[in-house]
Amino acid sequence: MNRDESLHKEKLERIERKSDVMRHYSGEPPHCVMCGESRLICLSIDHVNGGGTKHIKKIGGGGSTLYSWLRKNNYPKGFQVLCMNCQFVKREMNQEVRPRLLKEYE
Ligand SMILES: [Zn+2]
Repeated sequence: MNRDESLHKEKLERIERKSDVMRHYSGEPPHCVMCGESRLICLSIDHVNGGGTKHIKKIGGGGSTLYSWLRKNNYPKGFQVLCMNCQFVKREMNQEVRPRLLKEYE
């Protein structure tokens, strides 16, 4: 296998892993539990009770590290699938928004 092929395979595996996790938390097809958005690229795992950034730091990275971690830990409770927009809305409502962003709204 040449380099391009193995990069391609790696990417496919990453997408596969992501959709597996999403499917587990939201059903088939994977979708945002708030608005129903189902384009995989827009979806992400949300920590229901917040504190996501801290957790991701603790397990040593974001994105695909989190997906592997969830799989390895047998899909623990406390996570849900949200699209980027709903993540943002939720963060806004929970006041998890960083002070800099808040300032921009004022
Ligand atoms: Zn959504």
